[in-house]
Amino acid sequence: MTVQLSSQAAPGVHRIPLPTPFQVGDVNCYLLTGEPLTLVDTGPNSGTALDRLDRALDELGLRIGDLELIVLTHQHMDHEGLLEILARRCSAQVAAFAPLQPWLADYHRSARADDIYAQRVMSRHGLPRELVALIGVLSAGMHAYGSSGAVTRPLREGDRLAMGGRDFAVYERPGHSPSDIVFLHEHSGLMLGGDHLLSSISSNALVSRPLNGPLQAPRPQPLVVYAESLAATGMMPVKLMLTGHGEAILEHRALIDSRLEAQRRRARQILRLISDRPLTAHEIALRMWGDVAITQAYLTLSETLGHIDLLLRDGRVHEFDADGLSRFQAA
Ligand SMILES: [Zn+2]
Repeated sequence: MTVQLSSQAAPGVHRIPLPTPFQVGDVNCYLLTGEPLTLVDTGPNSGTALDRLDRALDELGLRIGDLELIVLTHQHMDHEGLLEILARRCSAQVAAFAPLQPWLADYHRSARADDIYAQRVMSRHGLPRELVALIGVLSAGMHAYGSSGAVTRPLREGDRLAMGGRDFAVYERPGHSPSDIVFLHEHSGLMLGGDHLLSSISSNALVSRPLNGPLQAPRPQPLVVYAESLAATGMMPVKLMLTGHGEAILEHRALIDSRLEAQRRRARQILRLISDRPLTAHEIALRMWGDVAITQAYLTLSETLGHIDLLLRDGRVHEFDADGLSRFQAA
């Protein structure tokens, strides 16, 4: 029996799903045939992902050594983890959001700093100390799925990038991570979107240390930033969006509208919870998600803070300090 390891997602674009150890399941990498031969995202740093990539390329009559360009849509390890190994096996240029150049130069150091930053956010917003410590240990154990690499083609909004014989425009779309970029081929309406927008799940906007920022950097507002990024993408003439997980998106505007509406709905729910008494973000998360606020503590805390940020932006919530913890109350 032969298993098809890649499929044609658009003319000259092959989708290569690679396994990840994460709840999200497979990550989609894309091979764009033509000049330069381009791989968009690498998959995680694991033997099974590397083996699957090898076999998918083999099926197309290609080898890793043939790759001429590797493009990273963002900094998450399911998208960049094989970079170090691939870069050793080919002489491809590596394109990514410009501020990822120093971040990826020493991935392990960057990931450690990101963890410390996350732990400070968790403590500040009411997670018990033991849980913060446990999450720190679990997160450090996952770092091995990422890797360092040299970004030789730093990208910024407005840049153009040739991939697989086509000319793409580069757009910065932070929110899901601080480093998300998307690529639009205007002529065909093809967008390579990474995890900016996914068809069957809403992309989470994790609270992340500002790229290369100090540990004291103020808390960013990823969901506010993400909502702006989504609105900008909604204005674009996209016909087909190929994404980092799951199926391609055909009706991006309708999907973006439903994602933004879901954000507003959740913000209203949170506002009701803090209408009569102030709560920490963790207390809000416990009321919203129950045990999931423990088992997926950082994710639900990020969700909660994200929606609070939307309310803060609109002047509907106050944040104040009590015994070193941030508490929130309806304005
Ligand atoms: Zn991903």
